[in-house]
Amino acid sequence: MHDMLVRGTAADGTVLACAVVATHATEEARQRHGTLPTATAALGRALVAAAMLGATLKGRQTVMVRVLGDGPLGPLVSESTADGALRGYVTYPRTDLPPTSARKLDVGGAVGRRGIFHVTRDLGLRDPYQGSVPLVSGEIGEDLAAYLVQSEQVPSVVAVGVLVSPEERVLASGGLMLQVMPGAPPWMPAYLEERARALPAVTQMVRGGATPDEMLRMALGDLPLAVREERPVRFACRCSPRKVEDVLVALGRAEADRLLREEGRVEVQCRFCGERYVLGAPEVAAVFEASSARDGA
Ligand code: ZN
Repeated sequence: MHDMLVRGTAADGTVLACAVVATHATEEARQRHGTLPTATAALGRALVAAAMLGATLKGRQTVMVRVLGDGPLGPLVSESTADGALRGYVTYPRTDLPPTSARKLDVGGAVGRRGIFHVTRDLGLRDPYQGSVPLVSGEIGEDLAAYLVQSEQVPSVVAVGVLVSPEERVLASGGLMLQVMPGAPPWMPAYLEERARALPAVTQMVRGGATPDEMLRMALGDLPLAVREERPVRFACRCSPRKVEDVLVALGRAEADRLLREEGRVEVQCRFCGERYVLGAPEVAAVFEASSARDGA
């Protein structure tokens, strides 16, 4: 099944519903960053969280999630754009912990249970919107739900999950998010929480081939879903040789020359996607000549 995001509404628009399947995007993130299973699950959940928070983005708007816990994984960052591009990284991709007593990947242990769940919504206004809450468990789904309730005052049900094979490949990655807006009947939050508790695990639904809208219909039960948008999602980065030139200019000529002397080349690696850009002496010289020509113009 293709990676896909579906968003819709229920109960006369008082419930916002979003679900995403991001199995391929999470597998690509794993391959690019060389993550081990616990880190893969954490990164996949964060990619799914960013995708769902970004479900209503338009144009050049972006959402960035930063999970800053005190665990061995280090800071975890994910981002989504309006056209469904997901990217992200973990600081220590080789983090892998023994499974929990429930035989689950110990994402909370890897992220850490103390820290901050931070969201930046860049909606193209002068200042991006920033919000953050303390981590609840480091499991990312609970942390996202707490963020929506505490920071955005929207009671929400969130489930995210990543399933990794014994060979460490991503078998399933996805999530769903139900948000109760003002005007909803007072029983709605409890009803949705009850539904969510009875629901199979997200990984089980995705692994079984459920599409995002099928996951939402299962979660909503008797509430009919009105689908508003379906959007493919994928792992994609915005880095480019041009941006690498900017990094090089920011680094400065002296530092670039030192690297050329000591290493014979300058290598810049994109944190978000792992892409390596290698520049030799002629390329470095050309970048600084173009830069000083621009400055002089
Ligand atoms: Zn990149």
